[in-house]
Amino acid sequence: MTKITNHLPTAELQAIDAAHHMHPFSQNDGFQRKGARIITRADGVMLTDSDGESIIDGMAGLWCVNIGYGRKELADVAARQMQELPYYNTFFQTSHVPAIALAARIAELAPGDLNHVFFAGSGSEANDTNIRMVRHYWALKGKPEKSVIISRKNGYHGSSMGSGSLGGMAPMHAQGGMPIPDIAHIDQPYWYGEGGDMTPEDFGLARARQLEAKILEIGVDRVAAFIGEPVQGAGGVIIPPSTYWPEIQRICDHYGILLIADEVITGFGRTGQWFGSQTYGIRPHIMTIAKGLSSGYAPIGASVVCDEVAATIAQDEFNHGYTYSGHPVAAAVALENLRIMEEEGVVDHVRDVAGPHLAKRWHALADHPLVGETSLIGMMGSLALTPGTGARGRFAAAPGTAGFIVRERCFANNVIVRHVYDRMVVSPPLVMTPDQIDMMIDRLTTALDEAHAQMRADGLLVAAS
Ligand SMILES: *Cc1c(COP(=O)(O)O)cnc(C)c1O
Repeated sequence: MTKITNHLPTAELQAIDAAHHMHPFSQNDGFQRKGARIITRADGVMLTDSDGESIIDGMAGLWCVNIGYGRKELADVAARQMQELPYYNTFFQTSHVPAIALAARIAELAPGDLNHVFFAGSGSEANDTNIRMVRHYWALKGKPEKSVIISRKNGYHGSSMGSGSLGGMAPMHAQGGMPIPDIAHIDQPYWYGEGGDMTPEDFGLARARQLEAKILEIGVDRVAAFIGEPVQGAGGVIIPPSTYWPEIQRICDHYGILLIADEVITGFGRTGQWFGSQTYGIRPHIMTIAKGLSSGYAPIGASVVCDEVAATIAQDEFNHGYTYSGHPVAAAVALENLRIMEEEGVVDHVRDVAGPHLAKRWHALADHPLVGETSLIGMMGSLALTPGTGARGRFAAAPGTAGFIVRERCFANNVIVRHVYDRMVVSPPLVMTPDQIDMMIDRLTTALDEAHAQMRADGLLVAAS
């Protein structure tokens, strides 16, 4: 077999990819599919593909490469750790220094009394841990019937059976037997798409109060926890109205149910503070973290647990864990990532420099004829595409048609911007400079112009009736 390297022609790499590599969340129609775009290297906020194109990464990989690519310090730490102790487990009362140090550092950064860390290999695994942990918590309290977890439609919590069930993605639930039992979903706080004639504030309250109604419908003696992302990421960067989280917090407090904040995207600076819970005044009992914890340089996630829940779980052996819980190389890399973030003031950069600059450029896109709304917090933003026919107009074409066209034009203009149906989303590396933000927005603007012309030519600028 030929050795497969970066030097093979793109078409050849694409053919081998199509023949042997099953992709997550992609149309896997084998040889018929358009060849995958193959990324060969990256530095800072720029990617290089197998054709030598230089692409600005508006998505930080998959919402995770917060400190940017090519940080040699992380590679050095990983190499050192691999030589010193490449692997040891944390089961059966054993431990190692990287896991100890990272747990202590996370406890220091996390708000309130979130002082205890249960490691996982990813965000999905951490949320699976959370399902079992909150149910076992109530069992230890003598209330094993409190097992229902309430989450939101169009929320995203991962792709495993448990985390995918917590999530509220209809296309996921349509495949493979999800959701698992005792998960209930309420509607999302998506004012632009679902708020009708209500003000955002009234709508935020109404959507939060669905939690109360659901608790009463199921019975408070059956409900274990509520889980939500402070800002929905994969659902389309949906920023809740200001009234939403205070009301959710009030309801969780009032009924004494556990509150889980899924901070896999919002954690580690994305919203301009270390955690989205701080930005939104949420006081969770458990936080899910992953992605930005290691800036994606190594796979790692965790549940960060408050004193009382951790003390209750500690009464008993928790029959749960992953071979790679607290993996020493991943933990060492995460620790180095957090050191760099702290020493280089990355969170301050988001709050004071990059976030405000991106906000200025992002909201100016609202003047584009294809844009119906812009929203942004810190370094995550979204815009709604519109056929340009009145407030919050939707396209007559199938949802996602317009978004896909814009995404393809973004690809062609060497900027990575994703679409979620007909919303375009960005979540760039947090270290992006104002000049780089300008480059990203300029390329996106060209893509929007081209998409607009193409859609007009194809007769797609038509509103749904
Ligand atoms: C990505 C994501 C997850 C899942 O993390 P994986 O590491 O992909 O398993 C969970 N929750 C949220 C909010 C995410 O964005």
